[in-house]
Amino acid sequence: MSASFITRFAPSPTGHLHRGHAFSALTAFEAARAVNGRFILRIEDIDATRCKPEYEAALLEDLAWLGLKWEEPVRRQSQHLADYEAAIESLRARNLVYRCFRTRKDIAEAAVSAPHGPVEAFRGGPLHANEEERFLSEGRPFAWRLSLDEAREAVGAFQKLSFREWGEGPKGERGRIVARPELAGDVVLARKDVGVAYHLAVVVDDAKQKITHVIRGNDLFEATHPQRLLQALLGLPTPAYRHHPLLTDAQGRRFAKRDKAQTLREIRASGVTAQALRAELGFPG
Ligand code: GLU
Repeated sequence: MSASFITRFAPSPTGHLHRGHAFSALTAFEAARAVNGRFILRIEDIDATRCKPEYEAALLEDLAWLGLKWEEPVRRQSQHLADYEAAIESLRARNLVYRCFRTRKDIAEAAVSAPHGPVEAFRGGPLHANEEERFLSEGRPFAWRLSLDEAREAVGAFQKLSFREWGEGPKGERGRIVARPELAGDVVLARKDVGVAYHLAVVVDDAKQKITHVIRGNDLFEATHPQRLLQALLGLPTPAYRHHPLLTDAQGRRFAKRDKAQTLREIRASGVTAQALRAELGFPG
């Protein structure tokens, strides 16, 4: 097996897998198989309120039914919180993150009064020291956000950061892409409730698992930009990326976990074989 090609499928057990997940998982699995590379399954279960063990058990069963084989042990993010805390601590020690005490409601209101850009592109900045101290002494919960201003200073200029796209982003982006982390704003790296958040966990895990090729849907293309910045700040390698087009239904809508009829369980229960589904998704044999 080749260590020069290691890819992964990283589902969150927040519902049953659907046709779109099957397509994504097969795209990664077959890409690894074609070059005798490695395929890794990672369970992204940091969201303790939405992730459920029964969904994890179901997804393992569904992927095995589909014919996928992955390496054991499977990494579950919930079992590696210390890794994420260490990464946040290293950013904190360099003043690259700040505490954000704002509630969702505060942020939504701020977005309405400054209608330029989505809520995600939030740029709050740290509180004044006095206020921060008061909030801390009151025991108010806070998230850690990446400071784009400090990050820009740390890396010199964002234009220096790029990644290789060997698939295609949503607007047909290909080849060497200059990262634009500023579009995502001061992203949350540690949520108030669980002490870590998606971008940070993904970047840490992709490095820990030595992922060389990230293969995922092009709905995550935008996520690559702040993730590229985090790799630079944490001194981690940058994999190559392949963002594949999302599978849509006959009406052109994306599949979602709420579309029960399109879950792999339902498809299987209706008598469709894994082989037939694979062929339908473009992976015969
Ligand atoms: N856990 C994410 C999801 O289910 C995927 C993360 C990734 O592939 O980077 O959408």
